[in-house]
Amino acid sequence: MADEKHSSGAEFEACGARSDSQWRQELTREQYEVLRDRGTERPFTGKYNDCKDEGVYRCAGCGNELFSSRTKFDSGTGWPSFFQPLSSDAVREEPDASAGMTRTEVVCAKCDGHLGHVFDDGPGPAGRRYCMNSVSLDLQPDDE
Ligand SMILES: [Zn+2]
Repeated sequence: MADEKHSSGAEFEACGARSDSQWRQELTREQYEVLRDRGTERPFTGKYNDCKDEGVYRCAGCGNELFSSRTKFDSGTGWPSFFQPLSSDAVREEPDASAGMTRTEVVCAKCDGHLGHVFDDGPGPAGRRYCMNSVSLDLQPDDE
């Protein structure tokens, strides 16, 4: 991948984000490849694909609360899928023309970590399908 625009670690620390080398230390290799390098985990391999546990899915990079288990549905795609984010400012959507497709990338609004893509064929009221990578997520189970 091309080099990132940021290079100064000190400035990033000040606003709560992390430098590339800090991310490399804090994330597993898999998490780094998806969150920071915009990779995609192989379908049906992620730990949350089939997960039905109740709770809140947080960003694996920064802990930002992203999705509720109540909006998760079985899309059959092999990736955990949601029909809406926890709040409209939890994630950011950006045009993505990579891989020869026109898609909409979904990133964490707090740390810019790559989460997955959103498509317009979902079941919810807005018809959206947030197709996420399990490694970008960290489920915080509900207490009974
Ligand atoms: Zn984040």
